[in-house]
Amino acid sequence: MVSLSDLPLRDDLRGMTPYGAPQDAVRYALNVNENTHPIPEDVARDIVESLARAVLGANRYPDREFSELRTAFAGYLGHGLDADQIWAANGSNEIIQHVLQAFGGPGRRVLGFPPTYSMHPIIAAGTGTEWVTAERDAGYRISPETAVAAVERTDPDLVFLCAPNNPTGTPLPIETIEAVYAASRGMVFVDEAYAEFMPDEVPSALTLLPGRERLIVSRTMSKAFAFAGVRVGYLAADAAVTDALRLVRLPYHLSALTQAAALAALRHAPEMLAMVDDIRGQRDRLLAELPALGYRAHESQANFVLFDGVADPHATFRALRERDILIRDVGLPGALRVTAGTEEETSYFLAALAELG
Ligand code: PMP
Repeated sequence: MVSLSDLPLRDDLRGMTPYGAPQDAVRYALNVNENTHPIPEDVARDIVESLARAVLGANRYPDREFSELRTAFAGYLGHGLDADQIWAANGSNEIIQHVLQAFGGPGRRVLGFPPTYSMHPIIAAGTGTEWVTAERDAGYRISPETAVAAVERTDPDLVFLCAPNNPTGTPLPIETIEAVYAASRGMVFVDEAYAEFMPDEVPSALTLLPGRERLIVSRTMSKAFAFAGVRVGYLAADAAVTDALRLVRLPYHLSALTQAAALAALRHAPEMLAMVDDIRGQRDRLLAELPALGYRAHESQANFVLFDGVADPHATFRALRERDILIRDVGLPGALRVTAGTEEETSYFLAALAELG
């Protein structure tokens, strides 16, 4: 085998690091913000029956427009959305890729506010889009003034916002989204992968969609819906945006099996989402108990908590790994991130951390 540098690879990809969260088989995998609750058995049975029917038709290409699924997502999201305002893909990572393929690309730039979701710059690089950044305020917040100054300085073709933000959990004020939209000429992409974990009174960016044809709100079934293994993400935007995405997607990108599984899960949305309240409870428990162990926990509206004050994050990460717990070193000084799992997982994690002293 030759090395990568021997291949006629695109110059702009040289030196890039691929996404690489560890996938070790551990008892307590709390490192990629999955929903650690298993899918309820009766729902799983219904999904399997739907899959069986889809398999019988698998000699034919699937519905390229995934019309039923779009209608189901519009119904799930509410806010008066129509099916033609919905787009779906294999995870919200592919949603991000479609958006960057259509609205980014060589000679264009996307503005982000690190620390933020690590795939935003990686997919930007993959699509040849320049990734430009601006700093957050104290506590990882982004005020409308900070955001507008960044837009004016960088004049981006796209702005990527993450609400709540990964890896920090920080809420994003709706006023910041409104201000970014008003100040920019390009697309404004709000990644709401963790929206279902926000407090009920926090408005989604979906409320801003009417009259804002450059606004995109992205969601996923990977987190609250416990469907990370199936790979289903979706977005809501003006119907013209979905017309744009149709230009870059591969035909039949959503398999018949994916469509069938997602539709079946959406029919059971209340049961699938039943664990969201428990998870919020475990997150709030982490927020309350980490300070008692001497750490500073950052405010979080997601299903994970970033905590700092860790003397040696690598050492703590390794010591927890030896206890069969995987959490995430997100590369922030003195900090680690942990997913809020089941009550038992949270208890085990907190006890292990307490033992480390
Ligand atoms: N956006 C954010 C903010 C995320 O944290 C993640 C996954 N960690 C994703 C998008 C991608 O999720 P998926 O592709 O599974 O939908």
